[in-house]
Amino acid sequence: MGCEIIDGSRIAGKILAEAKRQVEGFSPKPCLAILLVGDNPASVLYTNKKIEDCAKVGILSRVARLPASSSKDRILGELKKLNEDGSVDAILVQLPLPASIDEEEILGAISPEKDVDGFHPQNFGQAALGIGQLLPCTPAGVVRLLKESGISLAGKHAVVVGRSRIVGKPLAFLLLNESCTVTICHSKTRDLPSHTKRADIICVAVGKPKTLTADMVKKGAVVVDIGINREGEKLVGDVDFGPVSKKASLITPVPGGVGPMTRAMLIQNTIKCYLMRRR
Ligand code: NDP
Repeated sequence: MGCEIIDGSRIAGKILAEAKRQVEGFSPKPCLAILLVGDNPASVLYTNKKIEDCAKVGILSRVARLPASSSKDRILGELKKLNEDGSVDAILVQLPLPASIDEEEILGAISPEKDVDGFHPQNFGQAALGIGQLLPCTPAGVVRLLKESGISLAGKHAVVVGRSRIVGKPLAFLLLNESCTVTICHSKTRDLPSHTKRADIICVAVGKPKTLTADMVKKGAVVVDIGINREGEKLVGDVDFGPVSKKASLITPVPGGVGPMTRAMLIQNTIKCYLMRRR
């Protein structure tokens, strides 16, 4: 049996079309504010893409830009204004912040009900407990992608490679809440292949090309590639796609897999923030 490539762009398109229909019925329109500190080209690009996505579905957006040299107090001051602004439904702090700024302190200062990325400790904790409303976008996108692809999760052994605060760790909790048996691997894990080879589902979020090679994968496994790496002009994931796809039963491509789902989940969370504020 051949390997099926999961079309994240198609599934995300379906979610965005549904969001557009929903937003058509809203007045006033939801508003997403993005706080962008500095001018890191990748951050500027991602911010612009988020603004485009908002426009496509009829969500208003605005960008609060601060120079890279901004002090912690200046960033906190800007966040306070956005927290208190009644016309703003959802707030996103574009990461990474300049190295001198304590990311945790800034994320913790976003009003939890406007925390569209689900990064505030309150939302993170609720997501881990399985009672979250605002789930972090990439992990939520991965779970949705798996479900939309017809994969039953309960009882499956899922191995998550990477334990970052924004991807690996919350994804492990979301999969656990779906009754997967979860193993989390990271840079200190001994003998990574011994874990991945036992997995029914492997999710890789490391940020290094070819972290997962074919010899590390059980035949028929489902492989979700979350990594985004630039190789010259090309974008590649963390999975050695060609050889791994010969062993996997389903696999996500890069680009066109998890990335579009992350963007679709951001739109969905913006709508959730909007509706929660009006309950
Ligand atoms: P981080 O750098 O924050 O985390 C990387 C994780 O990988 C860490 O937990 C680290 O372990 C682990 N790691 C590093 N080397 C190894 C190794 N050799 N074996 C096993 N684990 C290892 O990255 P992010 O989680 O923020 O992002 C990961 C990737 O996902 C990046 O390529 C990023 O661009 C991409 N990404 C994609 C998104 C999408 O929408 N598709 C959204 C967000 C991110 P340790 O904790 O021990 O250091």
